[in-house]
Amino acid sequence: MPKANKKNRQNKVIYFDYASSALWASANPSAIHALGVGEKRKLEDARRRVARVLGAHNDEIIFTSGATESNNLAILGTGSGHMVTTNIEHASVLETAKHTGNATLVSVESNGVVDPEKITKALRPSTALVSVMYANNEIGTILPIREIAKAIRHYNKAHNTKILFHTDAVQAANYLSLKVAELGVDMMSLNASKIYGPKGIGVLYVKRGTSIRPIMFGGEQEGGMRPGTENVAGAEAMARALEQSEEIKSREAIRLTALRNYFIKKLHKLNVVINGDLENRLPNNVNITVRGIPSDLLIIELSARNIMASSKSACKSGDGKGSHVLLALNKKISDTDGSIRFSLGRDTTRQDIDYTVLSFKRILNKLKKWYN
Ligand code: PLP
Repeated sequence: MPKANKKNRQNKVIYFDYASSALWASANPSAIHALGVGEKRKLEDARRRVARVLGAHNDEIIFTSGATESNNLAILGTGSGHMVTTNIEHASVLETAKHTGNATLVSVESNGVVDPEKITKALRPSTALVSVMYANNEIGTILPIREIAKAIRHYNKAHNTKILFHTDAVQAANYLSLKVAELGVDMMSLNASKIYGPKGIGVLYVKRGTSIRPIMFGGEQEGGMRPGTENVAGAEAMARALEQSEEIKSREAIRLTALRNYFIKKLHKLNVVINGDLENRLPNNVNITVRGIPSDLLIIELSARNIMASSKSACKSGDGKGSHVLLALNKKISDTDGSIRFSLGRDTTRQDIDYTVLSFKRILNKLKKWYN
């Protein structure tokens, strides 16, 4: 227990605010007593640190429960006007866009990158928002955010419109610049769990002057944009994760790009299809399709060898389990083709890749007997 000040001769702090936060050591930051003020200070310090990494103002940072909420807030908070997005967005953008009932989905090219001109062509004077992800979570392609921002600015000037630009930067955060002014975005979603922080905390950057309304009600927290008791520990962890990621970003990008290219080169020899553009690609993403072998089977075989990867089948059966991203690449895909995403990270070594390639070779040899 902290000591009370000497004047009131009370050494023990008497906490009578259990209804506000049962743990007095992490009091409610909205409380105006000393413990609450202390928590508020921690929250604002975290906000300042996040803002600094993004090159933003403190009041442009809204803490949320994660990127799904950030994306929902960005889309639904800008109203019911027409919106433009791509067909490879994360479900938290795609499904929310569909929910508005007023969205144009621009198709990406077969390399998984969208043509900025196609975005421009989809704009209308009634368009309120464009949302294009910075980098794709399945195939790792990097989308031309700066060019799209520029095209929107030109359109706004020419048509006297105020179309906003949002990007889901979740997968880009570890490797690409997050400087919002340089990117030219009005809103940007991030979460902590993809940058080695905890799950359940995220950020929506909202540029000053952006017309956006809350989508949840019942509290004045986060500048009235996100009601509910703030997750102070989460915000602090998010700030720490973002700073750490920023510090090693360029080093990790170089290291992982070399490892990724090494991995891809080895996989090429195994006659698999590499999905997504090889140049405009996150340093840590390898996504392959294996013809004629279901992906779940490949994942289980890899898992049995202590290799944990993730799968999305490309099946078109309409059961909702197929990958909309792989389908968007418009490759000829059969229901039995399996796809695997290997995403590399801070612990990945060359030895890991050598072991994985060797194991994968053995798995393919084994399974091909039954599946080809
Ligand atoms: N956007 C992208 C690109 C993602 O990869 C993810 C998570 O996988 C999300 C949004 C959702 O993030 P969260 O789990 O924090 O809601």
